[in-house]
Amino acid sequence: MYDLAIIGAGPAGATFARLVGEKFKVLLVDCRGMTEGNAATTEKCCGGLLAPDAQRMLSRFGLGLPKHVLAEPQLFVVQAIDIPRSRKRLYQRFYLNLDRLAFDRWLIEMVPCRVERRFGCRFHKYAREPDGFRIELSDGGRQVEEKARILVAADGAFSSVRRQLEGRPSSSAVYTAVQEHLQADSVPPYFTALFDPALTDYYCWTIPKDNCLVVGGAFRPQRARESFSRLKEQLLRLGYRWGETLRREAALLQRPRKIAHLSAGRQGIALLGEAGGWISPSSAEGFSYAFRTALALAEALHPGVEGFQRRYRHYLRPLAWNIFLKNLKARAIFHPTLRSLTLRSGWRSVHPQPQEAFTGSPAPNYRPPDI
Ligand SMILES: Cc1cc2nc3c(=O)[nH]c(=O)nc-3n(C[C@H](O)[C@H](O)[C@H](O)COP(=O)(O)OP(=O)(O)OC[C@H]3O[C@@H](n4cnc5c(N)ncnc54)[C@H](O)[C@@H]3O)c2cc1C
Repeated sequence: MYDLAIIGAGPAGATFARLVGEKFKVLLVDCRGMTEGNAATTEKCCGGLLAPDAQRMLSRFGLGLPKHVLAEPQLFVVQAIDIPRSRKRLYQRFYLNLDRLAFDRWLIEMVPCRVERRFGCRFHKYAREPDGFRIELSDGGRQVEEKARILVAADGAFSSVRRQLEGRPSSSAVYTAVQEHLQADSVPPYFTALFDPALTDYYCWTIPKDNCLVVGGAFRPQRARESFSRLKEQLLRLGYRWGETLRREAALLQRPRKIAHLSAGRQGIALLGEAGGWISPSSAEGFSYAFRTALALAEALHPGVEGFQRRYRHYLRPLAWNIFLKNLKARAIFHPTLRSLTLRSGWRSVHPQPQEAFTGSPAPNYRPPDI
């Protein structure tokens, strides 16, 4: 019998396992291979940008990033493009550009050896028992059962545990994110956010990553494929160029528009990270929320199992408030007129001076803006 069974070893599950692994008897399950050389390993569809809030959480954990989890280049500029109004601005913001799979593996490497890991192992369902939970897993084709006092769901946006707990799919707005890694020699060193209500009521992006241009967008599921094709057409019109498509991926993405879309779990089940809807509704930034929920649950369990759920809900209040405020911010960002006025005013934007202006020769990866 385990004290804790954690379903999902993404940033939320792996961080939580690291924090509690020495104190409790823990089982960590993930359907992906996760470890180096495992054929079942797939990379999560993700922009892989570590935003300032997530960097702050790493500093709270006392962690520094090893070089091998970084991709190139590191980013200091966000470019916002309003496609229908042909407006564009640059803003200063500091992102660490990550290789997402290497980042996930690094988080797992820090999980204490005492934690029992089952990778390539899928969670199916749970049943309640007098002293906890019986969980059904398929491990390399074999059906196995395990028992745990507490069930921790860190299984992402389409959480099987949450669906069983709530008896229905999440009521939060769910988007299909589609992303392609395109071969490209000259890519502007910006994270670009593109807004076009004809494509999506959320947003699309381009990210330079290790000689690739990552193009993605979060779309309403019924129109995802068509909207993604139209996004690429828009990018060609804006002057972007690329070669072969190296990889195409898709994932569901939560967008918690109301506090009611968030959940800490109940009745012995705790929800972490995106499984509980903990993700920014304005930017889809999710690493900091994965880390914060993991830390909150570890702190809630610190005095013991008794009453942990009440403490966890209490520790998550500031995070729920943060998501409430982000929703207010989202109203301004995603309102076409307000966005257009902000971009037109140039408020808080930056005006980079290309090297060309001083030396006559362009910086190696500088490409002038196209609109
Ligand atoms: C396209 C896209 C781009 C994004 N870009 C960024 C970004 O640049 N920066 C940022 O901060 N956030 C970004 N996010 C959000 C970020 O990826 C998530 O918020 C973050 O990964 C959440 O971590 P998590 O551990 O809660 O869930 P996940 O990372 O989704 O991990 C869940 C884990 O559970 C496992 N799992 C799922 N179901 C089962 C099952 N039945 N049995 C066993 N295991 C299971 C999965 O294999 C996975 O490893 C992006 C999201 C998307 C979709």
